[in-house]
Amino acid sequence: MAKKEAMNLIQFQKAFQTEEACHRHLMKMKWPDGFCCPKCQHDKAYEITTRKLPLFECVRCRHQTTVIAGTIFEKTRTDLVKWFWAIFLIAHDKRGVSATYLSEELGIAYQTAWTIQHKVRKAMGERDASYTLAGIVELDDAFFGAPTEGGKRGRGTEQTPVLAAVSLDRKGAPQYVKMKVIPNVKGKTLVDFARHHIEPGATISSDAYSSYRKLAEEGYDHQPLEMAAHHDFQRQSLYWRYVPWP
Ligand SMILES: [Zn+2]
Repeated sequence: MAKKEAMNLIQFQKAFQTEEACHRHLMKMKWPDGFCCPKCQHDKAYEITTRKLPLFECVRCRHQTTVIAGTIFEKTRTDLVKWFWAIFLIAHDKRGVSATYLSEELGIAYQTAWTIQHKVRKAMGERDASYTLAGIVELDDAFFGAPTEGGKRGRGTEQTPVLAAVSLDRKGAPQYVKMKVIPNVKGKTLVDFARHHIEPGATISSDAYSSYRKLAEEGYDHQPLEMAAHHDFQRQSLYWRYVPWP
């Protein structure tokens, strides 16, 4: 019995040359038996084609939807052709393509490539452990510890050093977080963490400890922050807000 094989590059290139071809493919995946309204399950819709991608309006309940609603393509401004290529490239390179590579090969902005890469990987169900942070990454060590009985806080021996890395978007808003319990805050520990979780070439902001300076030797662009600014309450609380604590 012939197995359904994955497309090779030539087949892929032929199948998905245009936005229409990609759209048709998504239609077939989403509605194999024809349109089905996500609100009322009616099977007829008006097709409104004034936009880049057709809009479908349910004949019965007037609900409007697109083929990309509720998918990783939702609200994208990037061509589907480029998305499809990104998926092809990511799926075919077991070592993992970098956002820089995608950006150059597809002619899209780095941030766009990075977002696409993360959405695709997430959709492919890759374990979180294999993600790396990219772009501008803030790195900081912190100490976590529950108050001891009787409410006393901060007894050094009962606290655990944790390294937290937060990737920021261009406006400086946090996007993804990596955290790890570490044995110490020595240079080697930081470098090991960075190698596993941060893309080479990323800009790392951290304080100016010599431990962190080792990162520059590893090919990261290291920008020391002012100590005072780095440790203010706002900045610390940022980690707490965005970390899903188990
Ligand atoms: Zn409907």
